[in-house]
Amino acid sequence: MWKLGKKQKNRAPRGLHAIPLLFGYVAVAFAPLGLAYAQGLPPRGFWDELSSGLAMVAFAMLLIEFVLSGRFQPVSGRIGIDLTMRFHQLIARSLTVFLLIHPFIYATPLDRPRPWDPTQQLTLGLDGASLATGIFGWLLLSVMIVMGIARDKLPFRYEVWRVSHGLCAGAIAVAGAHHAIEAGRYSDHQALEIFWLVMVGIALLTLLFVYVVTPLRQLGHSYRVASLDKLALKTWSLVIEPTGGEALEFEAGQFVWLTLGRSPFSVTEHPFSISSCPAERPQIGFTIKEAGDFTKRIGEIPLGSRAYVDGPHGSFTLAGRKGAGIAFIAGGVGMAPIMGLLRQLQAERDPRPMQLVYGNRVVEQILFRQELEEMTVKLDLKVHHVLSQPPPDWTGAIGQLDRSTIGALAGFEHHADWLYFVCGPAPMIDSVEDVLEGLGAPMHQIVSEKFSYD
Ligand SMILES: Cc1cc2nc3c(=O)[nH]c(=O)nc-3n(C[C@H](O)[C@H](O)[C@H](O)COP(=O)(O)OP(=O)(O)OC[C@H]3O[C@@H](n4cnc5c(N)ncnc54)[C@H](O)[C@@H]3O)c2cc1C
Repeated sequence: MWKLGKKQKNRAPRGLHAIPLLFGYVAVAFAPLGLAYAQGLPPRGFWDELSSGLAMVAFAMLLIEFVLSGRFQPVSGRIGIDLTMRFHQLIARSLTVFLLIHPFIYATPLDRPRPWDPTQQLTLGLDGASLATGIFGWLLLSVMIVMGIARDKLPFRYEVWRVSHGLCAGAIAVAGAHHAIEAGRYSDHQALEIFWLVMVGIALLTLLFVYVVTPLRQLGHSYRVASLDKLALKTWSLVIEPTGGEALEFEAGQFVWLTLGRSPFSVTEHPFSISSCPAERPQIGFTIKEAGDFTKRIGEIPLGSRAYVDGPHGSFTLAGRKGAGIAFIAGGVGMAPIMGLLRQLQAERDPRPMQLVYGNRVVEQILFRQELEEMTVKLDLKVHHVLSQPPPDWTGAIGQLDRSTIGALAGFEHHADWLYFVCGPAPMIDSVEDVLEGLGAPMHQIVSEKFSYD
């Protein structure tokens, strides 16, 4: 039963702010340089020092990547998964370049360390094992980055890619630590050795957390499929409810990783925004569009099937945000988290003015048309539908979600103090953000959620 009229207590996002995160990141990534400098070894030539420095910073960055996987609330809870993943990918590409070029810029000859050269000024000191782990890590990193960039073109299922990505990363971390400690001029010093071991330990623990601890915790909080209905063209409404105990606590607009009809230890979980609102707990609703191998078969899930959720994640919420009014711009199934927000605003009887600009290709794709119509009675909400391929009798706007439709329909140029929530396909979000900024919406007032990381 909905608790109408009751204002939900907006919990502040659980993650750290961007500035401390950035400072923490720089401090940890550059810590090996400080620890190396503190050893006071006689300096070598420029290229040798550059190569060692690049390798150490890049390896620290690689180990930090494990906590930038979008699964850790302290990291991505406030800045959002989209920004976290963009950072993860950008850093992955930079550190790969550093690590791949580093063996080639040493000027010192490659040889076994000599007893009379303990600081390895005259030789690089690679023995068989450290050379092998270095080459192994180097090759695996090349494969991993190519697989990351070409992910959508590879003939593997996403789950195969995801597991191999985690396993490769774990293997590179272990091989890299062995190589650094055994071959590195600075890394076999105790302080730096401890640093690498702690960092590798944390990296491996993150894998353990995602693949073992989280599923174990989910086992005790199972859900069952309570309803499954076709909503619109290739789009389904799925509702789950707890089999016992409490339902997940979440903010309207957040998402979870959902496992359906399988053990929580299976790796076939998928991120879906919650399109119901907290006032509807214990039921949790999703709006799912057929996209690939899993979602295309969503309509075949039997009622009563087991479900598990990892979450809530994401910062596409009203928590901690102020706006004189609220604008929503949705493309297709991007309506899912926006519906969660609108339902919560309706449950709280929020008096603020709101506008929704909702774009689809054809009329059969429009989601929640009737419910949105009814919301305009209870909320101060104006709904504008935009179709790119309208039927002959269509009276709404025609075109894409661009300046001509968004600007003309909603008049956002007078609303610099509003909040703007944007969700839909990635290219749509990028162009709508540009349109909104062009219309004078301050960047910090625009909140967006992408349904893919690239
Ligand atoms: C934060 C977020 C919220 C989302 N909310 C919704 C929603 O409310 N409704 C909806 O219909 N879709 C949503 N999606 C998209 C949805 O997750 C994908 O469409 C779905 O996972 C595709 O799975 P598939 O096996 O059918 O297709 P596949 O062909 O296996 O995957 C297609 C693409 O979906 C993404 N994807 C698949 N599995 C995962 C995974 N486990 N983790 C991350 N990305 C994955 C990848 O980019 C992949 O290339 C959301 C995505 C994200 C990131």
